Amino acid sequence: MKTLCDFKRSDIESQIDHIIKIVSKPKFICKKCARVAKDKKYLCKAEALIGEK
Ligand SMILES: [Zn+2]
Repeated sequence: MKTLCDFKRSDIESQIDHIIKIVSKPKFICKKCARVAKDKKYLCKAEALIGEK
């Protein structure tokens, strides 16, 4: 599966329902792209958000 970081602008609109589920309760942030997600598998350089280490 593609990471959130891999989504291109043209992908986002068609995948928006999926993206909303991934980002609605984030626990990880990507150190490279500044995207957030509930699971580190969706990010290329995941770092746990505060309190989740
Ligand atoms: Zn990334």
